[in-house]
Amino acid sequence: MNLRITPDETPRLLTVHAHPDDESSKGAATLARYAAEGVDVLVATCTGGERGDVLNPRLDRPEVRRNIAELRRAEMAAARKVLGVRQRFLGFVDSGLPADGEPLPDGCFARQPTEDAARPLVRLIREFRPHVVITYDETGGYPHPDHIKTHEVTVAAFDAAGDPDRYPREGAPWQPRKLYYQAAFSREWFQTLHDAMTTRGTASAMGAVLDEWPDTAPKLEITTRVTCADYFAVRDRALLAHATQSDPDGPFFAHPRDLEREVWPTEDYHLARSLVEVPLPEDDLFAGLRPPAPAVMTT
Ligand SMILES: [Zn+2]
Repeated sequence: MNLRITPDETPRLLTVHAHPDDESSKGAATLARYAAEGVDVLVATCTGGERGDVLNPRLDRPEVRRNIAELRRAEMAAARKVLGVRQRFLGFVDSGLPADGEPLPDGCFARQPTEDAARPLVRLIREFRPHVVITYDETGGYPHPDHIKTHEVTVAAFDAAGDPDRYPREGAPWQPRKLYYQAAFSREWFQTLHDAMTTRGTASAMGAVLDEWPDTAPKLEITTRVTCADYFAVRDRALLAHATQSDPDGPFFAHPRDLEREVWPTEDYHLARSLVEVPLPEDDLFAGLRPPAPAVMTT
């Protein structure tokens, strides 16, 4: 099997997320950069975000809360356009974030058996034929049951999509080449930005985050740093397009963008599976997959 992308083939990148807005808050500048470079980028959104709260105080009104499902679809469409990517909902229902000990609602995404919940994603992988797939690590990156289920479903679909004996009615087998986990917003990211702001004499709201950082927090090895600082402004616009979910006065918008571009110009990933040998660390999600450069004629 030829694992490389052929010269006449468009590289394809699939990123799998739990809710509308996750694609804009985790790895959005990466998506915008690859899309601008001609990669076919597809966002798969597992749920409609129906149980999300209104996180923007300016929009926290009864009619907004009432129409949240519809509004989130419209916000997703706007964000997708900003990023220049395609997007598909996989049709599951948001599980919400239950309080400790509270059961998950009937029929929600997180309660689906992984084998069943992976089916629509297997179908999508076989249709879109991505070379690279991105999702969350096993902790979900954030302890939301839908994020953990998104990890489980994506790993299951990555492993099954190339096997003709699995899900035989969901299309012709296709094996993606590489699987990545999001590794953004590490402790090092917060510390580096906090130190840079402090040195510059800019107020930093990140000290509190660092003080409360649990010692037990899992640490994902960063194998891949994608330079995408030129797309941080696109990322911010995409995130703001999810107007009910992002507070323009909230902590994420508080740090100076010029400083972020200077001290941490990448979004970071952990290579979890690869069918090709690649030297690590790398700076390109498609490393090891790109066709060899054409020979240069010399005279
Ligand atoms: Zn989410």
